Amino acid sequence: QSRWAGVPQAPSDKILGLSLLYTLDANPNKVDLGVGAYRDGNGSPWILPSVRMAEKILQDTESDKEYSPILGSPKFIQLVQKLLFAHDTSGFQLLADGRIVTAQGLSGTGSLRVLAEFLHRFHSNHHVKVPDPTWTNHLSIMKDSGLTTSAYRYYDQKSNALDFDGLLEDLSRSEEGTIVLLHLSCHNPTGVDSSPEQWDEIIKMLSERNLVPVVDTAYQGFQSGDPVKDLATLFKFNDAVAMGKIPTYLLSQSFAKNMGLYGERVGTLSVICSGPRESERVRSQLAKLIRPMYSSPPTHGSKLVETILGNEDIYNQWLNDVKTMCDRLDSMRLLLYDKLTVEYNSALDWEHIITQKGMFCYTGLNPRQVEKLRSTKSVYMTADGRISIAGICLKNIDYLARSIDEVTK
Ligand code: PLP
Repeated sequence: QSRWAGVPQAPSDKILGLSLLYTLDANPNKVDLGVGAYRDGNGSPWILPSVRMAEKILQDTESDKEYSPILGSPKFIQLVQKLLFAHDTSGFQLLADGRIVTAQGLSGTGSLRVLAEFLHRFHSNHHVKVPDPTWTNHLSIMKDSGLTTSAYRYYDQKSNALDFDGLLEDLSRSEEGTIVLLHLSCHNPTGVDSSPEQWDEIIKMLSERNLVPVVDTAYQGFQSGDPVKDLATLFKFNDAVAMGKIPTYLLSQSFAKNMGLYGERVGTLSVICSGPRESERVRSQLAKLIRPMYSSPPTHGSKLVETILGNEDIYNQWLNDVKTMCDRLDSMRLLLYDKLTVEYNSALDWEHIITQKGMFCYTGLNPRQVEKLRSTKSVYMTADGRISIAGICLKNIDYLARSIDEVTK
């Protein structure tokens, strides 16, 4: 009798399951729109030229493979803080006042997990409101950390746009101290973000209801093509803290997409505190929490980030690289829209393909159409109709547009 006979089969990860089906599909025209990783114009993974430059430098200069400190290398943290918080007056002041604690995490997922564990340990309210829909792993991360979740309205299926009134109403009904998860930009899976004016209202509501914002940024740079411009909403949060409207926010940030460092697992978490003494206490508790989990973060990715952010030429190359990725995604959106509306004269409204931002587009295709696309056309996307724009290139766009048109006629 096996000791593990009672272990039930866990449901397979939907996106990874989709990738497997795609791999097994023999159709030469097959299209993979499931996975959220950038692909170049030939449909291949892309190592950013800035990353290649940093790799060369590291190869010549790296002198050890020692452990990093529990919270990451101080130089890495300093440079990431400069990237995230030094471009606006309020953020700069929060940094100067010693009010921001930042630690390296295992990319965005690991950073969110540490924040969730921190909240579970030190925040009295264990309930998190997440947008409906959200990245599915958000729910698992929060639940596995002992937090409970419920959804606030976010996306209106009828108009393929933000349900802002619903969002605000659901936040207004939150109990004091409720944790609220917010996507900073390029919302996954919908590609729909709040406008600057709407963000002002959201922050006002967070303030009025005394809610605790957890801000997640996994696609910094993919909204405007400029990683610094994409922080505009974060600047609003910094202003709100500086003006005493909200006492804190927590931030999770990932270099997976904007540096193409997916497998290197490099990102950060930050907690905004009331002053340097509190920061010191929070820092000590983050270290206490991380030490038994994974002891210290991996160093290769963070050394690459450190090299990119710390060298002006490579930093400028990185800005170009982000723009290259963002421009390609935008051009594929435009082309897909043109093909559907002009070339195939689709009777449906596809405007949202070009108004949504980032790596993903919520097509509005229903589960039946998604299944038909997979079984009859070998076009793979998640059941909610989300497509990864990165999977589109000149080689497959015509086939894709024709297939979408056919199943939606
Ligand atoms: N947050 C969101 C909204 C995401 O879409 C992702 C990745 O898909 C992440 C966080 C974390 O990704 P990673 O752990 O690869 O940095």
